[in-house]
Amino acid sequence: MSLLEHNYWLTTADFPKTEPRPLPNRVEVAVIGAGFTGLSAARTLAKRGAKVAVLESETIGWGASSRNGGMVLTGMKLGVNKLVSMYGRELTQRMYAASLATIDCVEQIIREEAIDCDFTRCGHLEVACKQGHFDDYARQAEVIAREFHHQLRVVQKNELSAEIGSSIYYGGMVDEVSAGANPARYVAGLARAAANAGAEIFEHTQVQRVGRGAHGGEPGWSITTSRGTLWAREVFVGTSGYTSAATPALQKKLIPIGSFIITTEVLPEALAHELSPRNRMIYDSKNYLYYYRLTPDRRMLFGGRAAFFPETDQTIRRSAEILRRGMIDVYPQLRDAKIEYVWGGTLDFAFDIMPHAGQIGGMYYAVGYAGHGVAMATYQGQKIAELMSGDKPENPFVGIPFPGAPLGLYNGKPWFLPFAGMWYKFLDWVS
Ligand SMILES: Cc1cc2nc3c(=O)[nH]c(=O)nc-3n(C[C@H](O)[C@H](O)[C@H](O)COP(=O)(O)OP(=O)(O)OC[C@H]3O[C@@H](n4cnc5c(N)ncnc54)[C@H](O)[C@@H]3O)c2cc1C
Repeated sequence: MSLLEHNYWLTTADFPKTEPRPLPNRVEVAVIGAGFTGLSAARTLAKRGAKVAVLESETIGWGASSRNGGMVLTGMKLGVNKLVSMYGRELTQRMYAASLATIDCVEQIIREEAIDCDFTRCGHLEVACKQGHFDDYARQAEVIAREFHHQLRVVQKNELSAEIGSSIYYGGMVDEVSAGANPARYVAGLARAAANAGAEIFEHTQVQRVGRGAHGGEPGWSITTSRGTLWAREVFVGTSGYTSAATPALQKKLIPIGSFIITTEVLPEALAHELSPRNRMIYDSKNYLYYYRLTPDRRMLFGGRAAFFPETDQTIRRSAEILRRGMIDVYPQLRDAKIEYVWGGTLDFAFDIMPHAGQIGGMYYAVGYAGHGVAMATYQGQKIAELMSGDKPENPFVGIPFPGAPLGLYNGKPWFLPFAGMWYKFLDWVS
């Protein structure tokens, strides 16, 4: 088979069909975006009896939620020492506990809704690209055990072959709590669950403008879409890396960054076992990192920020070759393996590389997952939905400062990305 510019996961998933039908005039909650965040929120709200419309410009799961590596990861993008320096011990402890709860949240939804998406608690492995990175693992594991009562296992270089069939790393660190899943099947299942609970999902419905507007004297929001206007008492925004000028205040706080993935042909069982004997979700210690795993049908899925800019035909094609070279550096055993699929997607980074959730200009939102969003997006969708229903759920990411660009020099068009890309490459070289 020759190389297809297509998302491999989509070939394995069956998405619910939504009939094109008119928008309702009025709903209690309009959810913008049908990814993990929006669908998880819609499911929770609808289960609590709210009349919910999910408005999606493209199709269910079209954004990052069907395109990702399917790594259901503990922790956050930033390391714990950095988090403690930003937020202090107590809040960092709550954030870390929440990051562990995100995995339970995904597992519970998958179990309750019987979503067939190859979810397994296979653990993740972080591998060190430099001796200094490996030395830091022991320090991190010690802080995480002491402060957060969570055990990580540091793996010395001479024991690493039990975890990975590559000899280029200086050691590793394993977290057994993380999991793997097929993200396209998961997001399709989440959409079915939201619809079964009573939420209505409208595909090919792009939100163009959201403004304050009363309906029968009741304050709320008037939402202009490509298919007409509807009124909602509340709005929840779950648009992540695809956030647009429809919600400008949020768009200015997010940097969209491209990430790209290739998958090989199906590998012989013995070779797959040699590459990843414990079937871990693996990523390396660089800023400009690679992440990789076996798919349930034994392909090597290998991803990275190969082009930095969000996906276009050009960046996708260029990424296939860059990622293939990266994969062979890690696994020379794959020199002759055919690459069958390549695709890209867009991540959302806040300027402080943290998840953020709560209210902005009166609208509810959850964003900023920085490539760590399968579990966190599901969790934030649920937690913000609980907040909207009048509960006071534990959610340490609500209310933390949400910085914009330095000096406000950003209108949502990331002109500085080539410089940021070079800066990260430079950091990887010197640190
Ligand atoms: C290539 C890649 C690999 C990744 N790998 C991992 C991984 O292994 N593990 C991990 O934890 N995270 C990973 N991530 C991140 C993770 O996929 C995301 O954080 C998560 O999917 C975000 O979900 P979401 O629902 O918030 O956003 P999305 O899934 O991006 O959904 C947003 C939706 O909003 C819609 N939308 C936007 N604007 C409008 C509008 N105006 N009107 C209507 N609809 C609109 C979009 O069409 C889109 O469907 C990866 C991301 C990418 C791109």
